[in-house]
Amino acid sequence: MEETLKILVVDDDEVDRIAICSALTKAGVQIELSEVGNGNEAFSVLSITTYDCVFLDYRLPDRDALTLIQQLRSSEIKVPLVVLTGQGDEEITLQLLEAGATDYLSKSRISPETLSQVLRNVIRIYRAEIQADLANQQLRETHEQLIFKNQELERQQQQIQLQNFKLLEASRLKSLFLATISHELRTPMNAIIGFSQILLRPKFGQLTRQQADMVERILNNGKHLLMLLNEVLDFSKLEGGGLDLKAERFDISKVINLVVSEMRSLADAKNLSLLVQTDLQNPLVFNDPVRVKQILINLLSNAIKFTESGEIWVEVKELPANRVVIIVQDTGIGIAPRDFQHIFEAFRQVDQTITRKYPGTGLGLAIIDSLVRMMGGKIFLESKLGIGSRFKIELPRQITLPTVAANAPASQASQLDNDDFFCPAKNPHQSSSQASKAPYRIS
Ligand code: ADP
Repeated sequence: MEETLKILVVDDDEVDRIAICSALTKAGVQIELSEVGNGNEAFSVLSITTYDCVFLDYRLPDRDALTLIQQLRSSEIKVPLVVLTGQGDEEITLQLLEAGATDYLSKSRISPETLSQVLRNVIRIYRAEIQADLANQQLRETHEQLIFKNQELERQQQQIQLQNFKLLEASRLKSLFLATISHELRTPMNAIIGFSQILLRPKFGQLTRQQADMVERILNNGKHLLMLLNEVLDFSKLEGGGLDLKAERFDISKVINLVVSEMRSLADAKNLSLLVQTDLQNPLVFNDPVRVKQILINLLSNAIKFTESGEIWVEVKELPANRVVIIVQDTGIGIAPRDFQHIFEAFRQVDQTITRKYPGTGLGLAIIDSLVRMMGGKIFLESKLGIGSRFKIELPRQITLPTVAANAPASQASQLDNDDFFCPAKNPHQSSSQASKAPYRIS
């Protein structure tokens, strides 16, 4: 040992003290030695001074070493203690170790070698104990921190659950509000539409041209408003799971042609060509005709709304595995890939500003997405900005009722390839098969 060790010898017998000191010196240990003769003095010195080791005579004049050790340990005084026992003290050694003595040594065995050996051992043990204490302390602290963090996490989790609950409740109330308001507004709106239609009947009476023009505007705006209200009502029903499909066997080609003829005037008003091709060997499907019509109306009105010039194609054809596909394709403004996944969400529009050019509720595609999912179908979107968009609705020829709605959205999307989109312009059949090469899932 290179360092100088501070040693305290507690012994009332001066001869013994000298023997210990000379043995330590002879062992070549560098020591700074202090000596006291009784337990009281030892306690006082150890209370204020730190030693590397204490050699303690078992039999002190004012108390025995066992009592002194217990006092020292209960006062949290930490120091390696070696008890020097005399003859007949052997049976007490276990008690000494239990009370906190680091080691013991019979006085009869004191020699430079044994003393230096014991000293080295106790200091090593003591330092290892200190390290272990420190590590234990750190472990305890880490453990406490973990408990604290755990409690914090549990608190946060409870808060999130509460927020979640509040959000669900708010969402439920919002749906209820939407459903109630749109339902209540439909009754007066139907009256406005009905009375406007009566006023416009030639039998009813003579209206001036100006009056007839105004009533017509009331009628058209009323119809538009009713359409928007129906959209909100349908959406709230779909959200709340209150919309059921009423499936029956019908001719899908007829429905497609009917919708196209109903909407042709809108396309004509914008000078857009509206082409339709139905290519089905068996046009009969088992589905809800009202909802299939609604899907097509939504797609077609979007195609007309977002197209300034060019053409709109509607096509229906058979697919393998007993499926049919309805395709609505336009040469409109197109949709950027970054917007693909958003536009199927409720109230989401590419242009969210109030001053936007194209009006709408932002519910059309969300309704289509929910309906197609209920029907067990899929939506594919391919589009390119400034070139146009193609929406493909794949449906099973025969839907299963009730279809458990899958959680995944029905929509898939990809960017339109320029050439792909344009080369078959006059041939919608070819167009769709070419352009459907690489649609990808958007979520
Ligand atoms: P709305 O038409 O009422 O805005 P939709 O849910 O039908 O709501 O459509 C959401 C958005 O998707 C539209 O606002 C528009 O930005 C975009 N979109 C839909 N169809 C087309 C289309 N054929 N061409 C370009 N953009 C479209």
